[in-house]
Amino acid sequence: MSTLEDSPFQQRLLNTFWDMADIFFFKRKDGSEAEKLFVDYWFGVEFDDAETNGELANSETELIELLKSFEIPAENPFPAYDFLWAGASKTPGYATNADKCRARWELFRSYGIYKDGYRGTGGTQGNIIVDVPLADGTASKTLFSCHTDSVHRTDGMQQLTFTQHPESGYIIQSDNNECLGGDDGTGVWLMTKMIEAGVPGRYIFHRAEEVGGRGSGWIEKNREDLLQGHERAIAFDRKAKHSVITYQSCSRCCSDEFADDLGGHLMLAAKRYYLERFQAGDETVMYDVQAPVPEERTGWRNVPGARSQKTTTTNQYGYTQTKWEIPKEQYTYTYTPKNEFWETVVERFAPMAPEGVEDYVFSTEEMQTLVQNYANEYPEEMMGLLEEYLKFKEEIWKTDTGGSFTDTANYTDIIPECTNLSCGYYNAHTQSEYQDYAFLEVFLEGLIATPWEELHTSGEVGKPETFERGYQTSGYWGYRDTWIAPSKNILDSASDEEVAKVRRKQQNQKERRKKEREAKKQMIAELGYYDPDEYEMIYGYDEDEWEDAPSDISSFWDDYKPTESEYNTFYMAE
Ligand SMILES: [Zn+2]
Repeated sequence: MSTLEDSPFQQRLLNTFWDMADIFFFKRKDGSEAEKLFVDYWFGVEFDDAETNGELANSETELIELLKSFEIPAENPFPAYDFLWAGASKTPGYATNADKCRARWELFRSYGIYKDGYRGTGGTQGNIIVDVPLADGTASKTLFSCHTDSVHRTDGMQQLTFTQHPESGYIIQSDNNECLGGDDGTGVWLMTKMIEAGVPGRYIFHRAEEVGGRGSGWIEKNREDLLQGHERAIAFDRKAKHSVITYQSCSRCCSDEFADDLGGHLMLAAKRYYLERFQAGDETVMYDVQAPVPEERTGWRNVPGARSQKTTTTNQYGYTQTKWEIPKEQYTYTYTPKNEFWETVVERFAPMAPEGVEDYVFSTEEMQTLVQNYANEYPEEMMGLLEEYLKFKEEIWKTDTGGSFTDTANYTDIIPECTNLSCGYYNAHTQSEYQDYAFLEVFLEGLIATPWEELHTSGEVGKPETFERGYQTSGYWGYRDTWIAPSKNILDSASDEEVAKVRRKQQNQKERRKKEREAKKQMIAELGYYDPDEYEMIYGYDEDEWEDAPSDISSFWDDYKPTESEYNTFYMAE
């Protein structure tokens, strides 16, 4: 078995981290200086916005000066601009990041990169479009979508942290109290990698998704020609690791057949990816074949038979509190963590136990050897076991009817199959956002292996009446655990039973919110604690807050003008 230190997979993961850090250092709030700088940095400084190939940047010095002009936080684990520009590139094959940028720009140019006519906040210019043709030189019928903006509250650069071990996970987080920007820096990264791999498609890096899908709304209204002829549009703008979105804002955006076809290809590629690593005995996957080790833990419990006693405490603000409580004592217990994959392999390999030994217990090492040999000798059978492995990793692709809104929702009148795929980030739009970057390796391999042009298509391009569109009435979950009900239009045609269910859910949400607010108020009263931000968090919301989904997405977004403070509380968009 190869150890972590010399696992080539581990090295690749680290490269992925450094590569993504290039994006995540920028706080890409819509129209901010950092977003504009990021676009210059990533796509080529000030490339021509006519619909021709742009000129490769020659103002490298200017870009470095811009990067330096941003304030880097005092505590400096990653001096952002040093890393970005001054040559500390960690990506193999490039001596400096300037070289890496240059290579990227050359590649985009070789395919043809252009900006459209969208003009947004702070003078942002254009959705950015790259076309990779099919092998025979004709245009692909697949459109890929992501967005360059994030929900950061402030402008500038941010520090990043990461973990690099199977036990702790392969996780990137930001070091400040804002979001990371995996939503949707990860989409930008994935699409760039797909262009590098030569996957045919029209790649649209949208502007201003988080503030109402304005970039894509503009295309739908003014440049329908960019969408025409496409059979499918795939966004990379969704949390977790398993969603093929079939409904956005309660309206169907793609057929189940298309979603199943796509999910099936991604799963097959994932199994092949993991098969290779199990065959090599790579520690990063072998780690999951591990007998759970029982841990000793401590807890508190009521002293048996004790009666309530009166206690009086005074906090640092001089606030005194008295309560009656049963005295508590500490105790220890043994906890065995669950590992479902271990249970599966133990069951599978039980016949391999030495004969004549009753209830033989496999050691981790024995089982790892068995699994590795099995992967090498019976690869077909191992693919079956890998189905269980994907379940364990929560990487089983499946249809998800709970999409909120992303750019591809604006294209459903023109393109038959529009979806959104999970990108391995969690808690987007909050300060606990994190990105699982190990998942991106396997996901990217699947995206490269998928025969996009051959995927099932329900409906006929150019004939919207043949697209199967309908509604679901179960609503969807937005950010901050906000459940969003279907629009009034949708409920108009729903059964009484469905409407009753929606009203019940709205009522439950209202009551849950009320309880949460009460609990927080009480906590503040007890601690004598007051913080303006906290106060806003607790009292800043309307007591009756619940939302109907927009009945018509495009017109909703066209009319909606969010104010700056809404960037982080805005929960309609992915
Ligand atoms: Zn997003």
